[in-house]
Amino acid sequence: MDLSYREEEEAFRAEARAWLAANVPAEPLPSGDTAEGFALHKEWEQRLFDARFAVVSWPEAYGGREASLWEWLIFEEEYYRAHAPQRVTQNGIFLLAPTLFEFGTPEQQDRILPRMASGEETWCQGWSEPDAGSDLAAIRSRAVRDGDAGGWRLTGQKTWTTRGAFCDRMFGLCRTDPDAERHRGLTYFLVDLRAEGVTVRGFGRLDGDEGFADVFLEDAFVPDRDVLGEVNEGWRVAMATTGSERGLTLRSPGRFTAAAARLTDLYRERGGAADPLLRDDVVRAWMDAEAYRLQTLQTVTALSEGARPGAESSLTKLFWSELDVRLHETALGLLGPDAEADGPWMKGYQFALSGPIYAGTNEIQRNVVAERVLGLPRR
Ligand SMILES: Cc1cc2nc3c(=O)[nH]c(=O)nc-3n(C[C@H](O)[C@H](O)[C@H](O)COP(=O)(O)OP(=O)(O)OC[C@H]3O[C@@H](n4cnc5c(N)ncnc54)[C@H](O)[C@@H]3O)c2cc1C
Repeated sequence: MDLSYREEEEAFRAEARAWLAANVPAEPLPSGDTAEGFALHKEWEQRLFDARFAVVSWPEAYGGREASLWEWLIFEEEYYRAHAPQRVTQNGIFLLAPTLFEFGTPEQQDRILPRMASGEETWCQGWSEPDAGSDLAAIRSRAVRDGDAGGWRLTGQKTWTTRGAFCDRMFGLCRTDPDAERHRGLTYFLVDLRAEGVTVRGFGRLDGDEGFADVFLEDAFVPDRDVLGEVNEGWRVAMATTGSERGLTLRSPGRFTAAAARLTDLYRERGGAADPLLRDDVVRAWMDAEAYRLQTLQTVTALSEGARPGAESSLTKLFWSELDVRLHETALGLLGPDAEADGPWMKGYQFALSGPIYAGTNEIQRNVVAERVLGLPRR
């Protein structure tokens, strides 16, 4: 197995590294999960876009560089290594976009993708409802055809919508055939959050940021051109989005290899050698991040040979989310009582705790692995 990169890939890495070194803000931006921080992050996204680093793997017509998945991984490694700002465009670029490339019409792609790439139009995801989380097919939001107006009227409530209070648009499912079996009769809509009949109410997370929102839909109009995929086929389209989320695009290994490198630095700074158990935890975090990187290379090899992400993406999500919690726990252990006063590691830890919940809880991922990877009986 040859794990070395080609000359042009190394050149791309050098270009990305130099640009990031010259452009990443010296002071970290305020959290993108606050109104002030979100606005500053959008400015950063525009700079990334202008330098054609916002969506490296996309077609040039949409602001990309037609980079391979390998080059995308390289860019991600460099991005996290440079400690660059969180991507507030991520729900659009990493989740909706792969689905638009697969199911969108050329008109939808031309209209939506460039504005998404530049951060001009930001997206949030509207799956969860007050009575539908893990059991997504239990959603009750409904859409009724308005033939005269050429579209649909949506009514219902979405919740836990990340950055919903700051975004322009939301993608999500509504029930379009109430008589159909639960997983059928759902349609995938692209909703304008400024439209009449849409009320967005932000609410705080445990860490104090206003990172979540409830989205209330009362006869909100969505034109036909904003239906993604076929009417009543939304489940299949939504599964493509969740596959991207769990499998590859949401959490690239660069995020964890960079965090493991910072953990190693922290260990050295704190003279942590005094506690052999903490030393073992640091080594384990580094090895796990490296294992995830190697496993991702295997996934990318399979994808570039034509495979589609399958149930194995649940294994990936389990691995990175649990690794992230352990890694941050180790950092807090190294900081000892200073952890209380520390900003970044403590904030990172609080967010890591939500990893086993979002993108489908880890209990659900274990069910998927048991039934669809290992072929175990449901009961
Ligand atoms: C940081 C964060 C960001 C989020 N962002 C978004 C977003 O942008 N958009 C969005 O739509 N949602 C978002 N969510 C919501 C998230 O998708 C849900 O919280 C998640 O799907 C779980 O749903 P629930 O909270 O209703 O819990 P429930 O489904 O009620 O589950 C409660 C508990 O029961 C367990 N459980 C449920 N069913 C089973 C089963 N069959 N077998 C074993 N255990 C089971 C679950 O694992 C969990 O531990 C976000 C959540 C977090 C934490």
